[in-house]
Amino acid sequence: MNKPVGLFSAILITFLLAGCGVHSTVSPTVEPPSPSIQAEPLDVHKAKPMPEMSQHPQEDADIPRTYHGPVPILMYHSIHSDPKNTLMVSPDTFEAEMQHLKDTGYHAITFKDLEDWKEGRPLPSKPIIITFDDGYKDNYTVAFPVLKRLGLKATIFVVSGFVGGKNNLSWDEIKEMQQSGVIEIGAHTVSHLDLTKLSEKQKWEEIHGSKVAIEEQIGCPVIAFAYPAGRYDDATVKETEKAGFEFAVTTRNGLATPQQGLLTLHRIRVPGNESAEAFAKEFP
Ligand SMILES: [Zn+2]
Repeated sequence: MNKPVGLFSAILITFLLAGCGVHSTVSPTVEPPSPSIQAEPLDVHKAKPMPEMSQHPQEDADIPRTYHGPVPILMYHSIHSDPKNTLMVSPDTFEAEMQHLKDTGYHAITFKDLEDWKEGRPLPSKPIIITFDDGYKDNYTVAFPVLKRLGLKATIFVVSGFVGGKNNLSWDEIKEMQQSGVIEIGAHTVSHLDLTKLSEKQKWEEIHGSKVAIEEQIGCPVIAFAYPAGRYDDATVKETEKAGFEFAVTTRNGLATPQQGLLTLHRIRVPGNESAEAFAKEFP
């Protein structure tokens, strides 16, 4: 079973690499470089077209790239009002938080952009990655319009076996978001089991299986993975690497750095009971 699936995956990736980057098309709201940090000859040099960066659109290339530090990776789940559930952030709070990031000059990037970071190339100033776990329907109905309006890119970690469920995204919604260039799709296993409790074979089926299922639907490589409930161990990381993921995120709290290991990157949970004002203080 594994062999043909893996082969198909490899073919798919080779075949479809072009045009799959979420680098592209979030254009309307990219701001011009601020006077204080523009015109650095080094960046102009580094922004010269390279094979790995060929999918950067013009507007992305216009953003000064000078940043080499750690990157905050925000973790959201459902965008829905339920004060009792701290995994849910209300739509109003979410919108205020995104507006704050926009107003204060953050550049929302994706894991595709992190390939630059991985290779030691600079990122845009004030980079941040916005992620959503599980693939809730409201990521499409509530979060996506806000992100699109503000020109903020984000990554949704989809549980492939949950797609089409009552409160979950459908494949059509996933494809629409991915094709918009605003949303990068990551994988979050097939059925959201605790990976540390599974056999090697089961780990592979959950990790690689979700990658293949999503790639078949969206027609693009899936490079980022999130461990369900943040649970992982060495064997889990090994299967994640074997499955071909470039990046994986945990729920360990903190800024992400390459030194953490690209398959065990930390994130910052945005709790549902945190106000937009508190969020603004955390991300000045
Ligand atoms: Zn999850």
